[in-house]
Amino acid sequence: QTGTKPNIDGGLATRTLCFSYQDKPVLKHLTLDFSHFNVTGIIGANGSGKSTLFMNLSGIYQPQEGEVWWDDEPLVYSKKGLRALRQSVVTVFQDPDQQIFYSDVENDIAFSLRNLGIEEAEIKRRTDWALRLVDAQHFRHTPVQCLSFGQKKRVAIAGALVMQSDYLLLDEPTAGLDPSGRRKMLAIIEQIVAQGKRIIISSHDIDLIYQICDGLYLLSNGEVLSSGSPQEVLVNKTLLESAGLEQPWLVKLHCEAGLPLCKTEQEMIAVLRHW
Ligand code: ADP
Repeated sequence: QTGTKPNIDGGLATRTLCFSYQDKPVLKHLTLDFSHFNVTGIIGANGSGKSTLFMNLSGIYQPQEGEVWWDDEPLVYSKKGLRALRQSVVTVFQDPDQQIFYSDVENDIAFSLRNLGIEEAEIKRRTDWALRLVDAQHFRHTPVQCLSFGQKKRVAIAGALVMQSDYLLLDEPTAGLDPSGRRKMLAIIEQIVAQGKRIIISSHDIDLIYQICDGLYLLSNGEVLSSGSPQEVLVNKTLLESAGLEQPWLVKLHCEAGLPLCKTEQEMIAVLRHW
């Protein structure tokens, strides 16, 4: 309930969070917990409230009812409260052009750190680390306008990574990418997870969600329709279809062809070799 401290060990959560645009309710009593999963997926059809939820989680919007919880406290919408949240919860929005301000990749990535008054040696260390993680060292001095859409997305992610936040929120990280850009993005997300960062990911790419998430919330009209492990949520074809979504192809092969439930394409190929 509102005001009840969730069991989140300092992590990120929402309690009965409600958000409306003017008088249109979009998020309805959402109680979500992101502290017990490494990668939490938020899925739902267009208009189900995913982006609005991200705006609330990153403190850009303030809920009319309920709370965002962070660091064992309900978020306080003061300068200090929001500054603390923004150092711990960093969002990478769908369109990288919204987040890239400098024409030079390296300067863009260092921008937010310079704003925080961090020392140049530390800025260099973090920038090198982030560029390596998103495999962008080779275009670190390239003018941003010469980069592909996928490369810009990687620059935006590097700009978020240097903040060394506890949580990284990724809004549609594979939208607009071609198959090789998508593969690259998947590998980068896996690398980031391997570094121990908590990720919350909103995506229409149900195959990506199935492969990389360990927890899932299915939203429909601003409400939680289902939650649990990806396997639990995604085997329920009827429920998914009622929310306007499809099953991942690996889950479809399990449900419709009786094949074992595999987590990755490689696992399925190995199964089929011995079938
Ligand atoms: P999703 O990200 O799941 O597509 P959104 O959070 O973008 O969902 O939108 C949820 C609902 O809120 C939709 O009905 C959408 O039309 C509405 N909405 C989104 N942004 C605004 C806004 N700035 N003003 C009014 N309504 C909005």
